[in-house]
Amino acid sequence: MKALVDPNKCTACGVCEEVCPASAITLAATMAQVSDDCTLCGMCVDTCEFGAISLPEVGTGPMANLADYRGVWVYAEWREGVLHRVGSELLGAGRKLADKRGVELSAVVLGHCLDGIGEQLLPYGADRVLLVDRPELAHFTDEAYSGALRELVRRERPEILLAGATAIGRSFIPRVAAGLGTGLTADCTELDISAEGLLLQTRPAFGGNVMATIVCPHRRPQMATVRPKVMKPTVDPRGGRIEPVEPPPECLQSRVEVLEVIPERDATARLTEADVIVSGGRGLKKAENFALLEQLAQLMNGAVGASRGAVEEGWIDPSHQVGQTGRTVAPTLYLAVGLSGAIQHVVGMQGSQIIVAVNKDPNAPIFDVASYGVRADLFEFIPAFIRKLKQEQGG
Ligand SMILES: Cc1cc2nc3c(=O)[nH]c(=O)nc-3n(C[C@H](O)[C@H](O)[C@H](O)COP(=O)(O)OP(=O)(O)OC[C@H]3O[C@@H](n4cnc5c(N)ncnc54)[C@H](O)[C@@H]3O)c2cc1C
Ligand code: SF4
Ligand code: SF4
Repeated sequence: MKALVDPNKCTACGVCEEVCPASAITLAATMAQVSDDCTLCGMCVDTCEFGAISLPEVGTGPMANLADYRGVWVYAEWREGVLHRVGSELLGAGRKLADKRGVELSAVVLGHCLDGIGEQLLPYGADRVLLVDRPELAHFTDEAYSGALRELVRRERPEILLAGATAIGRSFIPRVAAGLGTGLTADCTELDISAEGLLLQTRPAFGGNVMATIVCPHRRPQMATVRPKVMKPTVDPRGGRIEPVEPPPECLQSRVEVLEVIPERDATARLTEADVIVSGGRGLKKAENFALLEQLAQLMNGAVGASRGAVEEGWIDPSHQVGQTGRTVAPTLYLAVGLSGAIQHVVGMQGSQIIVAVNKDPNAPIFDVASYGVRADLFEFIPAFIRKLKQEQGG
């Protein structure tokens, strides 16, 4: 599907060609032509003063009966015996939405041997925790997890379903949405609700250059994923209840058998868990200079991050990348060294408690988000900082 040009109205003025972010419009002799690169963003429609471009009607089929859906759900991720912290973070966001709608907030856990798991979630604002405790769910598989969650949603009809944009969430939540015939907005950075109950799902778009607020007016539930550490958990115990639920066995079938689970302990895991991150960018000039940041990170018991600039230069492994196409992090201290602070980097670290930027360019955008700015040559500042830390630590 692509934008449609009305040949009777188009004057071939060319204005739409300039605004199309996908470069999908070219001017033929008498009218604009749209290629298959069109993403249906609608920017050309608003720009054409002759009303010559329109978007095709999206075939959504019959609209869901919106009044049948009620309640806010959070999928609380459980993996190999451990709850992911994104569940409690999303309960904080879900609580605000549920309060505005005057409805219940429920957490849903899928897994096996879930004793004590519901009790861990109740302090974060849930009115109830739905536990699906089945041997088929002991290890994650797309089919069994999506089958179980879809079945619960069909039975209970929540109007909103939130999940973490983790490896697991990214894998099976789109299947749940597709199976329910509803929409899904991935990687939201902000969630709110309109007076009419529309979930306002805000996320970066067009390479992070604009923030888009997306709504799902005709289908339910309204589904969104949020990356870990974007929302903050809130302790808000409400004496909620824990309800075991039993989906029919046919929903739990999977063609995949998990033979062994090997826990991940690579740089990615260290990065998202670290309390201190020292990140480097193109200002480091070459791969060897990352050794300086590693030394500094070690002294502060932290991890090393990187901008995409540094990753693209091949100076550091992509698993260290912070930002829109890398990891989202929110440590206590984020030290940004020789990186400019492009919006795509900032969206991945702006939740850090304290941001310290070291850059020799006083106009570098990183200073706009920094709590403390050090205008200096990193090759002078970082070695001096390391010497000082060593002195203080008695080394
Ligand atoms: C769709 C898309 C997704 C993207 N995703 C990401 C992402 O996830 N993460 C990400 O980081 N980027 C991402 N980018 C790229 C981003 O736009 C920037 O290009 C990138 O972050 C720039 O990297 P940098 O800051 O290291 O390099 P530069 O922009 O080149 O900045 C280098 C900085 O180092 C400073 N400097 C140089 N020498 C010194 C010195 N001796 N001492 C002190 N300072 C010095 C300079 O003043 C400059 O500010 C994405 C881009 C797109 C289009
Ligand atoms: S802006 Fe409108 S009139 Fe001008 S080329 Fe595009 S479609 Fe045609
Ligand atoms: S809808 Fe967006 S992507 Fe498609 S032609 Fe118009 S401006 Fe380009």
